[in-house]
Amino acid sequence: MNPEEIMKKIKEQEGLSRRDALKMMALSPIAASVLASSAAPASAEAASSDAVGKVVIVGGGSGALMVLARLRRALSKPDITIIAPNEKHVYQPGQIFVAAGEYDPEDIIFDNTGYIGDDVTWIKDEVATFDPDNNKLTTKKGTEVAYDYLVVATGVQYHYEQIEGLTVDMIGKNGISSVYLSDLAAGTAEGGTITRDWFNALHEAAKTSKPRVICTQPSTPLKCGGAPQKILYLSDDFLKRDKLTADFIFATASEKLFSLPEIDTAIQKVQAGYGNITNKFGHDLIRIDAEKKIATFHHKYQVQGEFDKDLNEYDMIDKEEEVEMQYDFIHISPPTAAVDAVANSPLAWQKGTAKGWLEVDRETLQHRRYKNVFGIGDVCGIPVGKTGGSARHQGPIVVGNLISVMEKKEELALKFDGYTVCPLKVSYGKIIMAEFNYDGLAPSFPLDPAQPRWVWWAFDLYMLQPMYRYLMLNGLM
Ligand SMILES: Cc1cc2nc3c(=O)[nH]c(=O)nc-3n(C[C@H](O)[C@H](O)[C@H](O)COP(=O)(O)OP(=O)(O)OC[C@H]3O[C@@H](n4cnc5c(N)ncnc54)[C@H](O)[C@@H]3O)c2cc1C
Repeated sequence: MNPEEIMKKIKEQEGLSRRDALKMMALSPIAASVLASSAAPASAEAASSDAVGKVVIVGGGSGALMVLARLRRALSKPDITIIAPNEKHVYQPGQIFVAAGEYDPEDIIFDNTGYIGDDVTWIKDEVATFDPDNNKLTTKKGTEVAYDYLVVATGVQYHYEQIEGLTVDMIGKNGISSVYLSDLAAGTAEGGTITRDWFNALHEAAKTSKPRVICTQPSTPLKCGGAPQKILYLSDDFLKRDKLTADFIFATASEKLFSLPEIDTAIQKVQAGYGNITNKFGHDLIRIDAEKKIATFHHKYQVQGEFDKDLNEYDMIDKEEEVEMQYDFIHISPPTAAVDAVANSPLAWQKGTAKGWLEVDRETLQHRRYKNVFGIGDVCGIPVGKTGGSARHQGPIVVGNLISVMEKKEELALKFDGYTVCPLKVSYGKIIMAEFNYDGLAPSFPLDPAQPRWVWWAFDLYMLQPMYRYLMLNGLM
């Protein structure tokens, strides 16, 4: 679709005024590429600070590149080292569109070199250990790197192996899929293509039978917590469009479909529309028997006990059990944790619910104990959904506050409000755009966020990828 056609459809479907439609279209791919081509190299822009010091950025994903671009522009004498193994960058949100057959696999892999300027020292390696008490770290190849300031942007690590009976090479065979599957260090993302094949195999099977499909969500924090449901609804709709059907089970360790009540209610309506989805709340996948196609879940639940006259309420008793479910097709969302180098270091929270994740202040994003260290993105142990949208909002905060520390200022003026976003694809052509922060819903555009809309589908499918590629990764938005 060209931008004119998109705008016509936005006006028809959403009843937006021409002015509002134009406002949205200002974010079109054309606008993005024009801006990208006119974007000055970092060094040519006016710098806002003469602060000096060696800054080391660890990671080569969304958060790291956003910080790198902004820092190169802000410092008049930048001395920046990036430690990142990947020459290729994966646009991870696009894995869902690859699965849905809307993108080709190559649409989501970009060359990292263009984002890391010649003035930056690039160590193509991974950090093995952090030693923040001595302001240094060691890479896997054994290089010791000292720093004055450190930004940690290492994202998350998948733990498929925590599901007994599952190994990564089983994904893509015997009805098992996982859109998450990727090797970010190698710059590959197999999960999208594997899940596209899984959609097609399911479609084929539904022509002659009514397959049973399970989509899982683990108990750990998950990057893009909406992805398990995106796959659930898109695969269901993929069948529905050809008048085929299956029995879908959404087996989630969570007790609800979405943390915000308004969005939870909207999703319940979506599910009622499908009419073939059963939710299994409190179910965490722990084992898989790929040969027999049986998935086993740890199920936590409560039963009503004695009535307590003093409290005037029933006592609730915690119960747990193992539950086996037969499947024909299963989509697995893996348990995740911070990468080992962070989780096993003094930089991690040492106790509490965020144990193992980077211990930063939820507003300033400065490390709570090591004041010359900042964090951005999924690695942060703060109560925020792990999304690229969050990283985008965190970028200016991290850079602004880091420069304040470099300038020896007492106060860190910039505060992150907890912004995150979930573009929940509830069918082909409809998205619920849930944007929220520490205080609740925070829509960027004056439209009811609980309403599934084609305009958000168009925005996500056609506009977000070029905006991400040309603007966000260059620190221009
Ligand atoms: C299927 C899927 C769908 C998604 N959909 C959306 C969406 O719709 N909207 C949205 O906003 N977000 C979405 N996301 C989430 C988004 O991609 C992430 O939140 C975002 O990429 C986080 O950025 P990051 O920099 O923290 O981590 P990443 O971008 O994951 O980058 C981490 C980097 O650190 C590197 N690294 C790891 N360990 C080390 C080490 N020890 N030393 C050096 N480098 C290391 C990795 O190689 C990688 O380059 C989705 C993610 C997935 C997987």
